[in-house]
Amino acid sequence: MFFKFGHNSFYTSGYTWIKKLILKQEYIAWDCACVACGKEWREEKENYYDMSLDAQVERDKGSKWPDMIGNGSEPCLKIISQRVLEAWESEGFGHFPSFPVRIIPPFPKKVVSEPPMYYRLDNSKLEGVELDWEASGFCDAKICNICGKLSWNENKSFKMETEQIVPLAFKEGTWTGMDIFCSKHVGHMFCTEKVIDCAVKHKLTNCSFVPCEIAGNDSFFRGIKYSTLNWRVKMQAQVEQYRNDFPPWGPIEAVGE
Ligand SMILES: [Zn+2]
Repeated sequence: MFFKFGHNSFYTSGYTWIKKLILKQEYIAWDCACVACGKEWREEKENYYDMSLDAQVERDKGSKWPDMIGNGSEPCLKIISQRVLEAWESEGFGHFPSFPVRIIPPFPKKVVSEPPMYYRLDNSKLEGVELDWEASGFCDAKICNICGKLSWNENKSFKMETEQIVPLAFKEGTWTGMDIFCSKHVGHMFCTEKVIDCAVKHKLTNCSFVPCEIAGNDSFFRGIKYSTLNWRVKMQAQVEQYRNDFPPWGPIEAVGE
């Protein structure tokens, strides 16, 4: 069983989060568009990923340093504490390509301790699965053979995602066996059950784990409760409740094709 993995700052209080990443080198990015498929995207200068960063946090949010820290700043990075890195390596999940993120003062008003060292994961080196686009709610998905980018019918997909629960499904035979991994083309990060057991054992805070069976539209799912090794039982009840409550946002207006 697989889980979408990230920080849980939208559903936890008490933890601060990053409001600005300060790059030590000018961040260079530019807008691109494909003449063949019309896809638009933002291209980043590659060597930006080889830098250590400083980060400023929200002064009025939180009284504790989390292990998975939320990031409200561009670029969108997954940032973990040193404790997470050490826990993962001690459980044999591999060695993770990462670069230091140093939290600089001023610290949140209510935090009394010094921040831990944080690291950002390099998603580009963690690709370990391909998504089954159609099964994952990306309607009419196709990869352009000129630019190599994925495009899909966003209106149709949105309509489907607001009417039913959609999974994030993997294309059979594409998982490379890693415990922590990303999918190609879309920036989701995933993990195995072992990573949740590790979070329980090492008491890693502010992680979000969403079962892939509901992760295609999980905006209102609070993440599974993983404070004890009994999380599997609790998770079943949480998922069942989510299915019963769906759609939790009430009726929506129909959108056109
Ligand atoms: Zn294209």
